[in-house]
Amino acid sequence: MTVRREDGVHIEAGQTYVADASSAVGDVNLVSHAHADHTFRTAPDTVVCSAETAALVEARTGATLPEYREGTDEVTLYPAGHVVGSRAALVEADGAGDPAGEARRYLYTGDFSVRDRLYLDGFEPVEADVLVMETTYGDPRYRFPPERELQGEIRDWLADNDERPLVLFGYALGRAQKLQWLAREATDRPLLVHESIRTVNDAIESATGLDFPAETLPAGDDPSLADGAPDLAGDEILVLPTHHSRSDWVEEVAERYDALKAGFSGWAVEESFRYRGGYDATFPFSDHCDFDELVDVVEAVDPEVVYTHHGFAAEFADYLTTHHGYDARPLLGDQTRLDQF
Ligand SMILES: [Zn+2]
Repeated sequence: MTVRREDGVHIEAGQTYVADASSAVGDVNLVSHAHADHTFRTAPDTVVCSAETAALVEARTGATLPEYREGTDEVTLYPAGHVVGSRAALVEADGAGDPAGEARRYLYTGDFSVRDRLYLDGFEPVEADVLVMETTYGDPRYRFPPERELQGEIRDWLADNDERPLVLFGYALGRAQKLQWLAREATDRPLLVHESIRTVNDAIESATGLDFPAETLPAGDDPSLADGAPDLAGDEILVLPTHHSRSDWVEEVAERYDALKAGFSGWAVEESFRYRGGYDATFPFSDHCDFDELVDVVEAVDPEVVYTHHGFAAEFADYLTTHHGYDARPLLGDQTRLDQF
């Protein structure tokens, strides 16, 4: 068996299983979640993913996915707790076609979080012989506060700053919906979202029983609002994609209405995150595991071999080997494909 990373993660185990790649070259092609929104430039016949991921990929790219299946005889999907529709995949290879002839269980986590968050259940580890895991925050500096405490702080901040507009930044799929949810819990102020977030809201609403009642920001002729800031009454909460945090129209809103900007990410553990985004407040509110949670997952899966990728892949593999005696290896390779979120 081999596990390698080039375009996506490739697992050779009798058949070739390819996860989160742009080219569908596997016998079985997996999509863990809808963040990798350039998924499949060449469309395979069949994709293994959740129904929600299929709906979200279609909504975000406008592309019609080929057929999708929520599993095969060898592949079982498990909720990964990262964003709506995200799944980890357990591949149970019977050893036929493998030179060693050994039956093995491979667990590919995709992006994942073990925390139950608002409307999302956290990932529950399953045992496997080989664990392939993302290690975005695989460094001991990245430890997040308990979820209940963190959400309480965010709700308090939203409720306390009630005299001016608040502009909240998060990825259009994932953080943006959770911020809307927290804002609804904390206040009854008008909620406005960027249209790219509205697109995701709509797709989630039609694929699940969830509801995200927010107005869409008036975009005028220019969907990016580059032409200027929208007129506000002053009590609105805006939820915008992260990449707008430094845009001119946001600066104009901040200046004209004395608005506060807040950023939400695991990177908020670092002080530099605040300056990079020009935020007034930051919260380490994440859709990934923190360092301790990553270690806990490895212990619960109890694998013979661990492959790490993304973020602190080499550091985390080294930590597992040195402190826990695991056979752990970073999957170095094309660092640009797996999504950045
Ligand atoms: Zn992701």
